[in-house]
Amino acid sequence: MDNLLMDNLLTQPVDYPSFIQHLPKKDRTAQAPEADVLRLDRLHPVISGNKWFKLKGHLRQAHLSPDPAILTFGGAWSNHLVATAFAAKQLGLRAMGIIRGERPSKLSATLEDAAAYGMSLIFISREEYARKEQTDYLDELSSTYPGVYIIPEGGGGEAGILGSEDILRGINAAIYTHILCAIGTGTTFLGLVRGSSPGQQIIGVPVLKGFDTLEAIDKDHILSPELRSRCRLLPDFHFGGYARHPQQLLDFMNHFYRETGIPTDIVYTGKLFYALEQGLSQSLFPAHSRLLIIHSGGLQGNQSLPPGKLDF
Ligand SMILES: *Cc1c(COP(=O)(O)O)cnc(C)c1O
Repeated sequence: MDNLLMDNLLTQPVDYPSFIQHLPKKDRTAQAPEADVLRLDRLHPVISGNKWFKLKGHLRQAHLSPDPAILTFGGAWSNHLVATAFAAKQLGLRAMGIIRGERPSKLSATLEDAAAYGMSLIFISREEYARKEQTDYLDELSSTYPGVYIIPEGGGGEAGILGSEDILRGINAAIYTHILCAIGTGTTFLGLVRGSSPGQQIIGVPVLKGFDTLEAIDKDHILSPELRSRCRLLPDFHFGGYARHPQQLLDFMNHFYRETGIPTDIVYTGKLFYALEQGLSQSLFPAHSRLLIIHSGGLQGNQSLPPGKLDF
């Protein structure tokens, strides 16, 4: 499985239909919704889930330059950062990570991993970090690190959205009526919407408090009115905000693992599957719906928990 991705780091699509797992139905009536999980968490242990799809276009572009180097952004528990560091190492690209906040006396496990893969870590203040999408700031970075290819936080931007469209291309996606995913930056969600078919509904579960409207997520207005009509957000499952994880969420994640064997994380997919379970029990989906839930991978955030909190 690892080699499947490594051999194809810059090509696509990988052949992953076998990563679809059917969820047992609680309501066994014939018209009750059927739910499948696309286990992108099984793509690769480090470049897991959606991260590869978001990165591949960026990596391909960076790879074209004569002295390829990439620079990207992240926080202490960023799945994106460690995925980028690993991919860069595999491809022989130099990598720099701009990290939000002061260098801590002890690096998080994620940052340790990124550094071990050879990424240089550059710590900047939260104020400076807030400028990470401003043109003048990006110009400053480009002149400080000439020739570097800058990947937006989370692997966003057009290349990231385009790569995410491919998530649905490798499988028989047309059979699904609803496609569900977690929303961090929204890059994956926008790609899924663009890669969807007319009549499908793409349901996003925002994991940040206050970043939960289509206006905020599609701030560059890349979706046509018809594509916007395919979108639906379930904004009530952030559990207090980014990476917040009350005991209720941990209990759910353990229970879900026992029932399905599917590990989830406290930042993204735990909240996504919780929203799914609530949606199913509250009859959110019409009779005969077929749901596809994108397991976007990334179990990094769980490393911030004290041992023993999770059964997996
Ligand atoms: C990074 C990440 C996301 C967020 O994806 P966006 O494209 O930024 O919305 C979702 N799930 C997991 C597991 C992630 O690591």
